[in-house]
Amino acid sequence: MRRMNTKNSVNVAVAGAAGRMGQRLCTLIGETDGLELAEAFDRPDHQRIGTPAIPGSGVVIAEKPGGAADLLIDFTLPVALQANLDAAVEYGMAAVIGTTGLTEAHFGAIDKAAESVPVLWAPNFSLGMNVMFALAGQIAAKLGDDYDIEILEAHHRFKQDAPSGTALQIARSICQATGKSMQNDVDMTRVGEDPRKPGRITMQTLRMGDVVGEHTVYYAAQGERLQLGHIATTRDTFARGGLAAAKWLHGKPAGRYTMKDMLGME
Ligand code: NAD
Repeated sequence: MRRMNTKNSVNVAVAGAAGRMGQRLCTLIGETDGLELAEAFDRPDHQRIGTPAIPGSGVVIAEKPGGAADLLIDFTLPVALQANLDAAVEYGMAAVIGTTGLTEAHFGAIDKAAESVPVLWAPNFSLGMNVMFALAGQIAAKLGDDYDIEILEAHHRFKQDAPSGTALQIARSICQATGKSMQNDVDMTRVGEDPRKPGRITMQTLRMGDVVGEHTVYYAAQGERLQLGHIATTRDTFARGGLAAAKWLHGKPAGRYTMKDMLGME
């Protein structure tokens, strides 16, 4: 049963509330006009179950959502996606999803849920990176195959998936702009006797310390190198972007939405 919204704000359920992103989301919802933390949940065996979502909050971390929210924000793990989408459909919650490491089957599940509720998935919710997605493709198309493209990304030591969803989205944008394909033209790493082949896009991954997220695209030819880079210095950038997406998505008809839709980008 949905709770009455007395303050005319959007009631939000945060999945993975005990996680790095979940904690920032719970905190920043409290600082955001028009949003209210209605529910927080995490995996049933998490030690934070039954404790306040953030210090002083009246919302405790539950084992699953209970229907008190209008909208779900999910930054968790791929393994949690299906249950979270099922809950969104069951309770009629719009869903903002930031989880990365998803497979084609996961994207199929998102499309299915989007037949019933509005869903926005993005591998990166920062404005700067979404501008970079577009620029990365435009630059590749202008420079052509004489420029070797290497995508380098760095993240903290706890990150589960590699390469990052953001690096994959950069590669996807370059492929779209140049007529290449993720299956046939992208190499994930290089090892042993493996000289560079013309026209290919190569991705390299660093995992170290507490790096929030750094992405650089190199376009290198004989005699020059162009670099396009983005550095995230705080997770709040992603959390604030996710919350802006939540406000934008609330009230939209069922369907699959992207950050391009939200930002009005081509
Ligand atoms: P984290 O490991 O700190 O947090 C994940 C949380 O999800 C944990 O608390 C975990 O217990 C919880 N969880 C696991 N299974 C669950 C389940 N079945 N139900 C509910 N909760 C469950 O990770 P993080 O650093 O917060 O990142 C989370 C995800 O967000 C990752 O996929 C990461 O790549 C992604 N991410 C996306 C963006 C973006 O802008 N899209 C930005 C940062 C991180």
